[in-house]
Amino acid sequence: LNPTNQHFSSEEMEAEKKLRPLSFDDFSGQAQVLENLQVFVKAANLRNEALDHTLFHGPPGLGKTTLANILANELNVGIKITSGPVLDKPGDLAGLLTNLEERDVLFIDEIHRLSPVVEEYLYSAMEDFKIDIMIESGPNARSVQIHLNPFTLVGATTRSGLLTSPMRARFGIQSRLQYYNVELLSTIVERSSGILKVPITMEAAIEIAGRSRGTPRIANALLRRVRDFAQIKGNGSIDIEIAKFALNALNVDKHGLDEMDNRILSTIIDKFKGGPVGLSTLATAVSENAETIEEVYEPFLIQEGFIYRTPRGREVTEKAYIHLGKIKPGLGGL
Ligand code: ADP
Repeated sequence: LNPTNQHFSSEEMEAEKKLRPLSFDDFSGQAQVLENLQVFVKAANLRNEALDHTLFHGPPGLGKTTLANILANELNVGIKITSGPVLDKPGDLAGLLTNLEERDVLFIDEIHRLSPVVEEYLYSAMEDFKIDIMIESGPNARSVQIHLNPFTLVGATTRSGLLTSPMRARFGIQSRLQYYNVELLSTIVERSSGILKVPITMEAAIEIAGRSRGTPRIANALLRRVRDFAQIKGNGSIDIEIAKFALNALNVDKHGLDEMDNRILSTIIDKFKGGPVGLSTLATAVSENAETIEEVYEPFLIQEGFIYRTPRGREVTEKAYIHLGKIKPGLGGL
């Protein structure tokens, strides 16, 4: 189970789809973001216009794809889904764009990974709903301009820092998604249990929620694994005993930290005496790139009080030592 991994097996993706909320009413959390989106969608519907281009940023698994689908549902239009790395030629994009119906949503996941030529090509599509395409070849080759139906581009990125500023400027609506608290996650776990038709106690839902790294995707994945234990080792329903048993058997960290989170903490402690250590030095030491640490791992570790930022770099807190069962120098050893 690798929670921050974006690339899931097709089985995992199917399971996720089943649990995906379809409307604003079904979606828990992100209250501020949702409130605004509801206003913008209502207004666009009233005027019968395409919704402004919308950018969602934030760590993986917090609901960016889900919200893109909800927008299409609430706008009562179709959605086409693609991702930055898949679109490698302007021609691929042209095919998608010319097939959009009026007010449709085009969802581009990992939009920070578009190639510069494709990105450039997207600009005029977003701005004027026009694109140039090449027709014929050889001496007769020429470019013609075609008009597109007004559409809404919904972009998602985990790495907003890597988005170019001209790209960012073309999104009229920009929302940052936050990690979910345990209460919200337990609501999500209870809703998912209902869909999966497995009874769960509130206590057990809270236990799963607390180990989910603030992330609905992880909460749902853990729920499905705990359900397996309940069916094979228990009586099919999930109570606190079976939940704890399963989560321990799965080796899920008490705080839901994943392997990289723990590696970051233990590296700061073991190699840098608890810090401070600069971001790029830390990145090299854990073999992960600096932006990913900054945008995917660190926000959660800071929010949960495991590390903090100082002008001289990152430092771990006492909580990190306790979590990893390590002794803070100068404290334990008399
Ligand atoms: P992202 O695109 O940000 O990586 P997704 O939208 O794919 O995340 O969400 C991952 C899973 O988590 C989905 O299957 C969805 O069911 C669930 N999920 C995300 N946000 C919520 C939410 N607010 N309420 C209920 N389920 C959610």
